[in-house]
Amino acid sequence: MAAPAPRRDDAPEPSFADLLAQRPALSTDALAGLMMEEVPLARIAQAVGTPTWVYSAGTLRRRARALCDALREAGLDATVHFATKSNPNLAVVALLAGEGLGADVVSEGELRAARAAGVPASGIVFSGVGKTEREMRLAIAEDILQLNLESAEEAEMLDALARSLGRRARVALRVNPDVDARTHAKITTGLTENKFGVPIALAPALYARLCAMEGLEVVGLATHIGSQITQGVSSYAAAYARLGSLVRELRAQGLPVERVDCGGGLGIPYRDEIPASPAALAGTIKAGLGDAGVKLMLEPGRWIAGPAGVLLSRVVIEKQSAGRRFVILDAAMNDLLRPAMYEAWHGILPVSPAAFHAPQTPADVVGPVCESSDTFAKGRNLPALPPASLVAFLDAGAYGASMSSTYNARPLAAEVMVNGSDWSVVRERQGYEQLLAGQRIPGWITRPGEAR
Ligand SMILES: *Cc1c(COP(=O)(O)O)cnc(C)c1O
Repeated sequence: MAAPAPRRDDAPEPSFADLLAQRPALSTDALAGLMMEEVPLARIAQAVGTPTWVYSAGTLRRRARALCDALREAGLDATVHFATKSNPNLAVVALLAGEGLGADVVSEGELRAARAAGVPASGIVFSGVGKTEREMRLAIAEDILQLNLESAEEAEMLDALARSLGRRARVALRVNPDVDARTHAKITTGLTENKFGVPIALAPALYARLCAMEGLEVVGLATHIGSQITQGVSSYAAAYARLGSLVRELRAQGLPVERVDCGGGLGIPYRDEIPASPAALAGTIKAGLGDAGVKLMLEPGRWIAGPAGVLLSRVVIEKQSAGRRFVILDAAMNDLLRPAMYEAWHGILPVSPAAFHAPQTPADVVGPVCESSDTFAKGRNLPALPPASLVAFLDAGAYGASMSSTYNARPLAAEVMVNGSDWSVVRERQGYEQLLAGQRIPGWITRPGEAR
């Protein structure tokens, strides 16, 4: 297994002030408490209830622009395709589409979400190791920008389908460059042992085969080495250098390579990580692929959406048990899965102005779900949080709502977007009728009280 990124659990936890200083959309007001842009989060909780995801439109815009600017300033001919799986909320995708971003989708649902949010088909890339025939059919019908192929088998399936429809599907070949992204083992994707892409050594022969398939229009290469990459740009540098050589090798064989999709994966500081800047990433792309004469694409998800969101939750109760302090919230692992799944660290800020400067003691912050892994933080320094106190989980805009489930029959939380002093519900809280909808009890199951 790939070694997880070194953890710095022994490093002191960032203070509330440190966390705020790094997150420009958030501030504290002496009266209103924690604010996102110009809206008190307590006001949203009051109106919409909790748990609720809250996204900052300003942060989404600012980060999308920062990335596009960095690519432009490096002199790169590049387009940015938001990885929809990080946050498929239609308002988020629509806002980013308004900034000129396309979408990277991995399912029919995401393809439909991107189209519904107004992303033109010409801005959509379809990634993923298991595209079904139905999904391929839709991608062809919509005439999307490209499908990133993951194997020879998949290429044959798509070629046959496209020919049967009298069409040619635009494709790129996803290459696995065998570099270690030095991130968490569950989110590294660019090693030979991972299921993604084709090994780079086999790419030239396969690429040539693809070019000979009548149902395919081969436009180039794609890669994606992992997610939450925070260990500098050396993994990216190695991957892009290998792709650059591959482009030259393919061209030397007389094969066309128009574009290279550089993937996503740029990390964000959840705790005290220092990820590469967009400028450093752009410089690395330029070094590896700048003179390859290809159009470039980037598929960031987390970097754009992660810092733009918080998860707002209320304390149900505090309890003391065996000398430990437990803060039990109304949010749980079914809402925010990352701590249970990746041992991820999320900043937790109290919302009330008084709590912000109150004395702190260590607490385990947990949800009400019947799993020990329903633990958001252990030994976190927090002020006293009486029942109904509000807290905000930071950096919850990516892989937050999109990974949530209804485990323990808990409805999906509401989503809100803040824009300056305005805010709107962008997804209603799931109702209990919706939660039970679609289920059937067959007539042959006798219900209590019914005659047998
Ligand atoms: C998940 C994924 C991304 C986005 O990753 P982030 O870490 O959110 O930037 C991009 N491309 C592909 C193919 C992916 O699977």
